[in-house]
Amino acid sequence: MKTGFIGLGHMGSAMAANLIKAGHEVTVFNRSVQKRRELVQLGAREASSVADACDAEAVITMLADDSAVTDVTFAERGILESLPTDAIHISMSTISVTLSKRLAQAHREAGQRFVTAPVFGRPDMAAAGKLFIVSAGDPAALATCKPLFDAIGQKTLAIGTEPAAANLVKLCGNFLFASLIEALGEALALVGKAGIDQQSVVDILTSTIFPAPAYKTYGALIVGRKFEPAAFAAPLGFKDIRLTLAAAEALHVPMPLGSLLRDRFLRLLAQEGGDHLDWAAVGGLAAQDAGV
Ligand code: NAP
Repeated sequence: MKTGFIGLGHMGSAMAANLIKAGHEVTVFNRSVQKRRELVQLGAREASSVADACDAEAVITMLADDSAVTDVTFAERGILESLPTDAIHISMSTISVTLSKRLAQAHREAGQRFVTAPVFGRPDMAAAGKLFIVSAGDPAALATCKPLFDAIGQKTLAIGTEPAAANLVKLCGNFLFASLIEALGEALALVGKAGIDQQSVVDILTSTIFPAPAYKTYGALIVGRKFEPAAFAAPLGFKDIRLTLAAAEALHVPMPLGSLLRDRFLRLLAQEGGDHLDWAAVGGLAAQDAGV
């Protein structure tokens, strides 16, 4: 498929590479030029502007946050002005429900199609083409995008025709991740201070009652204090908790745990260098507090 790809960060660079490997005709654009060049070496065409990347059947955005997606979409010569009629904007970033709804309406009014396909999985899973994709939007548009999703992920699940639904599911998933990072951090601080080997505790729990990959991944990161270099940076995790709370506020859903996590992220980001750490570092705070 003739595809534009905008946003070649930790995730986007690996996803675009897999589209190229699968034989798609990929044109890449990134604000910082160097990252475009790396993909050109793999066979991508380099776009000199967002508009140039939109000369395609579909354009994927994998950008940091609402502000980046808003800039790239609504600016002069942005996606909205440049994407052909009937072409599809596939939004794969973790963005707010509010922006997703605004994008859906704007693309509809411009005669273009809009689907959402946020992903679960860190950059190593993106590199292996093993992401989980949660998609939403018009079924015909999603069917058109399937070959792209197949190249990027191990599984694509659909959650209805309203694009913002997938964004809310993604935010809920990250709320659960952040909750387990905090909970694991507290439990491991407790056993650590009692002098019990923390990795053995992770091994016991994840081979019995908590076998989910998330416990294994974050348990190892917290025990090893492997918070640098960040694969998913703490400011992006903080963004997701704030977006979850904004969605909850709009629907009048109290989420007291979400409010607590917001403060834990603030505590991490207030530390010198905290914004360069992986969000798993939230799980290291309890040990600091306990003097472990
Ligand atoms: P990242 O490495 O920080 O990359 C962010 C990308 O956004 C870069 O290409 C950056 O361009 C671009 N960007 C930021 N602000 C921009 C602006 N104002 N205008 C144009 N481009 C802008 O982030 P990531 O880890 O790949 O994450 C991308 C998205 O996926 C985020 O929404 C994140 O929440 C989500 N996500 C991440 C993970 C993960 O484990 N990392 C997993 C699932 C989902 P420059 O290179 O020029 O800075």
